[in-house]
Amino acid sequence: MSDTIVSTGTIAAAVQSGELPARVWMYSNYHCNLACSYCLTESSPRSERRQLTAEQMIAVAEQARELGFTALGITGGEPFLLPWLPETVLAMAEHLPLVLLTNGTLFAGDRIERAAALAHPDVALQISLDSHLPDVNDMARGPDNFAKVVEAVPRLLARGVRVRIATTTGGPLDSPALSPLQHLVASLGVAEADHLIRPIVRRGRADEFGLGVQAVARDIPCELTITGDGAFWGSFGPTVRSGRLDTDLLLTRTILPLAVPANALLGVLRGMPEGTDARLGIR
Ligand code: SF4
Repeated sequence: MSDTIVSTGTIAAAVQSGELPARVWMYSNYHCNLACSYCLTESSPRSERRQLTAEQMIAVAEQARELGFTALGITGGEPFLLPWLPETVLAMAEHLPLVLLTNGTLFAGDRIERAAALAHPDVALQISLDSHLPDVNDMARGPDNFAKVVEAVPRLLARGVRVRIATTTGGPLDSPALSPLQHLVASLGVAEADHLIRPIVRRGRADEFGLGVQAVARDIPCELTITGDGAFWGSFGPTVRSGRLDTDLLLTRTILPLAVPANALLGVLRGMPEGTDARLGIR
């Protein structure tokens, strides 16, 4: 991995040609109000927080645009546990469009207005929902998860918030058993194109419980991913196992200036042989 910083134009050209994936991910934090059985980051209310600051996240957004990236993603942990999140997200959206991953369970009652502040053409919330059966969904994700999500989604849409649904499954991605869930998602007002279905990846807590698909490094989708602990190959890279951060997909401990990890990722990609595209449908 080279530490030489290439010119801004080089990164932009690599993004434009498709050589470098166009989106930059950030892990805002690692703690969560839930503790799902397949969680890649072993998140729970007691997890080490590993937070980025609001200033770092806005700087990543600004520098990502300057470098030529065209989109952002925010994940965790549960980002909405951070009190300053909505204002920070709006500041980031001034630079690039973004998708914000959330479990959608912190929007009950008046708290919906905190998320409703994110009704912005360049912000989408991606909320997890794994089954049309409340018991099955809640077995993996926690009590009342289904009810909270099914209540929150129409309320968010009614307030002009863009909503996507992400389903994580231990079965085949094209299973007919997913049809009732697809119908449920449509009935909530979410377009088919905004419903992602992806496999459980056997990292983090999923590895502890033997869940999901075994994924070697080359199966993990490549998108520059920034955390409080460094920059990684992809958003499925900075996972946690037995309380320790996995570093097999760590690019560099330097996260800013963003040109440093962007250059490191481009260097890795240019050193890879042809024909290494992921085939497991992880996204
Ligand atoms: S999978 Fe998401 S919602 Fe579940 S514990 Fe992990 S971070 Fe929280």
